[in-house]
Amino acid sequence: MDVVRLLPDAVANQIAAGEVIQRPASCLKELVENSLDAGATRIEILMLDAGRTLLQVIDNGRGMSDTDTRMAFERHATSKIQEAKDLYTLHTMGFRGEALPSIAAVSHVEIMSRRQEDEVGTLLEIAGSQVIRQEACQCAVGTNIKVKDLFYNVPARRKFLKTDQTELRNLLTEFYHIALVYPQVQFTLAHNDEILYSLPIANEKQRIEAIFGGAANRTLYTSRFVEVKSETELVNIYGFVGKPEEATKNAQQYFFVNGRYMRHPYFHKAVMTAYAGLLSGETTPSYFLYFTIAPDAIDVNVHPTKTEIKFADEQLIFQILLSVIRESLGKFNISPSLDFNREGEIEMPVLTSDTPISQPTVMVDPNYNPFHPNRAAKAPSHWDSLYTPSSSRPTSQQELIPDAFLPSLLPEGWKPYQYQEKYILCPSPLGLMAIEQHRAHVTILYEQYKAMLQHPTFASQQLLFPEAMELTMDDMIVIEPLLDSLRGLGFELDLLGKDAYSISGVPALLGQTNPVKALKDIIYSVRECGATVEKGFVHPIALSLAQDTAIPVGQLLTDDQMRDLVEKLIALPHYRLTPDGKTVLTIIDISL
Ligand code: ADP
Ligand code: MG
Repeated sequence: MDVVRLLPDAVANQIAAGEVIQRPASCLKELVENSLDAGATRIEILMLDAGRTLLQVIDNGRGMSDTDTRMAFERHATSKIQEAKDLYTLHTMGFRGEALPSIAAVSHVEIMSRRQEDEVGTLLEIAGSQVIRQEACQCAVGTNIKVKDLFYNVPARRKFLKTDQTELRNLLTEFYHIALVYPQVQFTLAHNDEILYSLPIANEKQRIEAIFGGAANRTLYTSRFVEVKSETELVNIYGFVGKPEEATKNAQQYFFVNGRYMRHPYFHKAVMTAYAGLLSGETTPSYFLYFTIAPDAIDVNVHPTKTEIKFADEQLIFQILLSVIRESLGKFNISPSLDFNREGEIEMPVLTSDTPISQPTVMVDPNYNPFHPNRAAKAPSHWDSLYTPSSSRPTSQQELIPDAFLPSLLPEGWKPYQYQEKYILCPSPLGLMAIEQHRAHVTILYEQYKAMLQHPTFASQQLLFPEAMELTMDDMIVIEPLLDSLRGLGFELDLLGKDAYSISGVPALLGQTNPVKALKDIIYSVRECGATVEKGFVHPIALSLAQDTAIPVGQLLTDDQMRDLVEKLIALPHYRLTPDGKTVLTIIDISL
């Protein structure tokens, strides 16, 4: 007996849905992309319970005829391409004809659609790929689609979804990807009856401000950026890159190509290369970069849910990108007062005939040769290599130092010595001990913050002027469950509208550290390490605060400060590595 047969459509669709629709956010993406492909200029998104209960997208696009409405839910049914070669000249977001049938296989869909030329529209209801009803209806021109009870018939998928918090963040991320690249489209987004975003028609810059600028001072947000613009035969690049001193750990980094969000690690590297030497610590710049390129020079035909895009001339684009960003940053450097709002115009110092022109003096060391082999050996980088993460180095020497060994054996009346404003050198029974000052302080402060988090003190230092901290909706979701811990530490935070907090008090340990930066970094590290209420927030909060408030590299220390630091450090039960595993101290054997 022959046993190979075709799968029923409903089953095939459910399998396809596993690929295309993984979570509410992927469903939202497909629906909104359909609206954009239909030429909508206004798109309204309504969500309940992070999209689990309802995802509704209402557009004013072209709409569909009654037959097309039904056809749209057939597998591989699309109006966007007709033959294989069309794939190379894509001008639409969709083209696979998989989204609607996949969604309808794993949810309860209700769609109303009407074209301009039709008197009445069509109402179609489908659940688990079965048509429940189709009839004429009264409705506005455009399409109004409701996806209810996503994954109602795929319990495994439903169980696999994360908390509402996480799913909502995924939905917002997807929304940003689209809204940032379609500023000419008006968007509204509501969750559980609260309007989170209402974005008017705008240009790219205004759209970025509307999303990330917070309610109070939108234009301030983009004043932290410089404009980038380059037109070449191969590619046009337009956008904004953050000024180096505005770099944070929590940077917003976006690439778009031909109206599509993309991830591109190689181009990211180009951006980072342009900032070489301009960034401090672990910060990275924010950027919003829009590429326009001939559709046949890229390949979007990868995976339905992947956002990587291949370019034919990646190396050339890398070079263009690198040089245009360098150039923009350079312009900004010679003119720090450059006003972002005056597009493209740069203020140059005005030289008049009576401006005295003095001869610049340049001091040259005639013996300097950067390529001399001995230079490399003496350069600080060699010294730094002692402090590379312990995992990449043999630890034998570290193992030589038992934790309890040093404190008892520091010689009486010892004198510290600071080297390169980075290392504290001091004697030890095993040899010359070198301690990295920033890491040592991070390790000490970490323990202090950890203790404060475990035994809330609520001891707060009042700020003379409360500071406003504006957050994205995304950040609001992360900070919400942290509030108790933060208050226990001494942060006094009050909700200010729906996307901002006012900070009126901070933990005394914070010192001169900017509280807004400290809190944003906490949000970032909690997000990065995927901390949850159950797992606890102590580690990411304590680590982030310790890193932000510790003595930086480059700070000159007095002998007393150094001694204090060393003594506090070696009094800790573990002091050889920072809480994130970086080497704090090394002992150099000097028995020659
Ligand atoms: P694709 O977008 O890849 O073509 P979909 O399954 O997402 O596949 O949609 C199938 C077809 O349904 C589309 O090609 C389009 O013709 C039609 N369609 C879907 N959504 C809309 C909408 N909001 N407005 C008008 N037409 C739509
Ligand atoms: Mg589609």
